[in-house]
Amino acid sequence: MFKSKFIWQSAALLVLIALMSWSKTEYPAEQLLNYCQQFNQIQIDVREQKVSPDSAARAFQEVMKNIRTTLTAFDSCDPRNQPKFVYPLRGYLPKYSIGGRGRGYRTTGFNLFDAEARGSHPAHDLFIKDGNQDNLDDHRGNPVDLLSFSPGLVVATDTTWQPESELRGGNYIWVYDPCLNGLFYYAHNSRVVVQPGQWVEAGQKLGEVGRTGYNAWKERSPTHVHMMYLKINNDYLPEPANPLSWLWEAEVRGW
Ligand SMILES: [Zn+2]
Repeated sequence: MFKSKFIWQSAALLVLIALMSWSKTEYPAEQLLNYCQQFNQIQIDVREQKVSPDSAARAFQEVMKNIRTTLTAFDSCDPRNQPKFVYPLRGYLPKYSIGGRGRGYRTTGFNLFDAEARGSHPAHDLFIKDGNQDNLDDHRGNPVDLLSFSPGLVVATDTTWQPESELRGGNYIWVYDPCLNGLFYYAHNSRVVVQPGQWVEAGQKLGEVGRTGYNAWKERSPTHVHMMYLKINNDYLPEPANPLSWLWEAEVRGW
């Protein structure tokens, strides 16, 4: 009798723990989606030069603070966990796909809020084998999946790129990782399969590697994903940080 009571109590406790951990991961989706739309609008306003760099920066600070506060309030991050990264190109090894083995990284002159800022490349280009530029891996004949490097909230996507468009990023995806307090940006995708406001795990498919974007579309550009990492500083402003060592160490997922 005593034993069965104990079993029931343990079962009830387990259910309670499960419910608590489930509710911990729930967050106010509508509110976050609203912040995500504001985040993307800042990118659009900057590239269309509808806002000054200063006011874009202020709007960015506000929205990043809101996203961060909302996510940390719901404890979406456990600081005891070491970050585990997944290499963004499915089926590719870092040593065969990181452009220039990481030497193409330049932060000088970077300003996320100034559409006229030129010359910086605080990013790594990760190349696929696509000699005939049809967005398919030459050996397998498949599109190459773009995988999320780390877990986070999809804060913005663009899927509207057309060949006549002058936009440089093409079809892009922004993911905010609250544990790192940083943003990952993936550009030139042929397809995007995630939505703003959606939570993604490391290794989850975000889209497929492509050639969208003003320069990426041109024949001289080999097919790649442009991957940028921006650390959010104490003022909620973005600062480029080089994720190269993380890329070398990332887990590679097979086809
Ligand atoms: Zn690039």
